[in-house]
Amino acid sequence: MSVLELSAMTWEEVRDLDRAKAVAILPTGALEAHGPHLPLGTDVIIAEAMARRAADKLSARGYDALLLPALGYTAAEFAAGFPGTVSLRPATVTALIVDVASSLGRHGFPVLAIANAHLDPAHVASIDAALAARGGDHLPRMVFPDVAKKPWAVRLTEEFRSGACHAGRYESSVVLAARPDLVREGIRQALPANPRSLATAIRSGQKSFEEAGGPLAYFGYPADAGAEEGAHTIDALGSILEEAVLARLA
Ligand SMILES: [Zn+2]
Repeated sequence: MSVLELSAMTWEEVRDLDRAKAVAILPTGALEAHGPHLPLGTDVIIAEAMARRAADKLSARGYDALLLPALGYTAAEFAAGFPGTVSLRPATVTALIVDVASSLGRHGFPVLAIANAHLDPAHVASIDAALAARGGDHLPRMVFPDVAKKPWAVRLTEEFRSGACHAGRYESSVVLAARPDLVREGIRQALPANPRSLATAIRSGQKSFEEAGGPLAYFGYPADAGAEEGAHTIDALGSILEEAVLARLA
């Protein structure tokens, strides 16, 4: 079976797909400040890498994996003060995901998996709200493994689990593996560590990267990143999505 890109297909090709063996995958990221060394689209790059790896794994298991164009606009209030960040209202994001899902459901696709790499709590809540929506008969089954939570987080790197997981070693490594041309290497290699835990800051009620102790919009250890670690992380993310889909279909 195949990995297919929906936007590159014709409607007749989509009509002829075997629905029983089709899994649609929506990567979700953000347009958001990621330190002085990574592009605004970092989370989209990570989500697309996760989606593509999961698609490879699912197609090897006999499914047609249908990659949707990424959702690259979402709620990103923590980074909203940094130039270039675009932040939508969470209700807009929920409506968008529900509408995408119901269009796929209308055309008979049974499963929509979300490959998410953006961990802003308002964004994650907007996906959870879409999953909870009862939007009529058309909605496909939705799969959304939240990689920051059990059982998935233990599969990811130590820095990620520490909560210092924005534009640090974890994300920088994935971008070095997926789009090395977009990493400002001279800047990255000279960046001092910022070991503040963004996850702890969020739990204690802080609302922005600046408040959380990230005045340059990064946390963690970007100078320690490497492409090899990034390749491992992409594989782990792909396995997480694959396993979540298989569990839902079982
Ligand atoms: Zn990110």
